[in-house]
Amino acid sequence: MSRPVVVLGATGSIGTQTLEVAENLGLEVVGLAARRPTDEFAATAKLFPDAQIAVAGGSTGDRDHFKATVGDRCSFGTEAVVQLSATPDVTVVNGIVGAAGLMSSVACLEAGNRLALANKESLVAGGPVVKSALASGGEIIPVDSEHSALYQCLLGEPMDSVERLILTASGGPFRGKTADELAEVTPEEALNHPTWDMGRRITIDSATMFNKGLEIIEAHFLFDMPYDRIEVVIHPQSIVHSLVEYVDGSLKAHVGHPDMRIPIQYALTAPGRQPSPAKPFSLAGLSLEFEDADREAFRAIDIAFEAGRAGGSAPAVLNAADEVAVEAFLQGRLGFTGIARVVAETIDLVEWRELVTVEDVVTADSEARGVAASLISGAC
Ligand code: MG
Repeated sequence: MSRPVVVLGATGSIGTQTLEVAENLGLEVVGLAARRPTDEFAATAKLFPDAQIAVAGGSTGDRDHFKATVGDRCSFGTEAVVQLSATPDVTVVNGIVGAAGLMSSVACLEAGNRLALANKESLVAGGPVVKSALASGGEIIPVDSEHSALYQCLLGEPMDSVERLILTASGGPFRGKTADELAEVTPEEALNHPTWDMGRRITIDSATMFNKGLEIIEAHFLFDMPYDRIEVVIHPQSIVHSLVEYVDGSLKAHVGHPDMRIPIQYALTAPGRQPSPAKPFSLAGLSLEFEDADREAFRAIDIAFEAGRAGGSAPAVLNAADEVAVEAFLQGRLGFTGIARVVAETIDLVEWRELVTVEDVVTADSEARGVAASLISGAC
C-alpha cells in the first residue's frame, strides 16, 4: 500500500500534477509546501483541510492574510518546509526549486522516508550530502522522466552487468541551430519547448541543454555510475525516455508518452503499478529519430561532464551560476550563448571545495551566485 504524500512545491508544475495523481490513486495528502503565501496556494490548501501547510517565504502581511484564509495549520519559513519533509512514514514529493529543496531532501531521507525526487539541486548541488543522508534508511525514487526510465530499466539487474546509461534529450526548440544563430535567440523563443510543458528555468535549461547536463550529474549520483559510462543522445520525439545498455549487447529502453504524471505516479506506487489517467499509447505509425548532440553549439553537456568529474563543489557552482544566468537571460541582461559562458567562467573562478554538510553546499552556491552576477554585470 502506498504511503500518504507530502508535496513540496505544491503550486508548481510537478506539484499540481502530483496532487492530480494522488487524488486519482486515492492517496492521502498530509502536507503541502510552497515558496509563497499566494491566493493560489491558499485555494489549493483549502482542498486538503487535513494537510499541514508550510510556506517558505512571503512578507508578514502576506503571511497574516494567508493564515487568516487557511487557518492555524500553517507554519512559515524554510525550517517549516524542512520539518514537513520529516513527517514520519510518508512519501515526500520534492518539486521545490532551489536550496530549500536540498535541506528538505536531506530531512526526508534522515527520517527514513521515501523521497520522490524532482528537485534537481538536491543531487546536482548536494550529491555527496544526500548520499550520506541515505544511510539513515530512506530511499530515493526519481521523478525526472529520464531517471525514472533508467531506474525502471535497471530493476532486477546487477549493476556490474551495466555497460552504459544513455540519457535521451529532446534537443529543445533550437536543435539544429549553429552557435551564431543561437546568439540571437530571444527568451520568448526559448520558452517555447516542443514536447514538455514545464517551469521557466527548466524550459530555458532544456533550450541550452544545461537541463541534460544537470541530469548527467543526477544520474551519476543516483546510480553510482562513472561519468565515462553515461551518454546523451538526441531524440526529438521524447518517446524513449532513456536506455540502459548491458555488457551482453542488450539494450532496455523505457517508452511512453511525454506525460510527467506517469513518472510521478510510479514514484508513489513503486515497486507496484496502478492504472493512470495517461492516454493509451499506440506504436503504429510512430517514427523515432536519434542523433548525436551538437556539443559545439550546445556547450552545456561538456561543461557538465567536466564539473561532474571535478566533483566536490563544482556541480553546485554550475547549478547556481546557471540559475543566475538563466534569470539574467529572461530579463534581457544576457544573451542566450552567454549562459554557458557565464557558467563555465564561474566554475573556473570559484574555489573548489569538498562538500560534507548542507552548509558547504550553501556556501558554494552563494559564492557562485555572487561571481556569476558580477560576470553578468561586467564588474569582473
Ligand atoms: Mg528530464
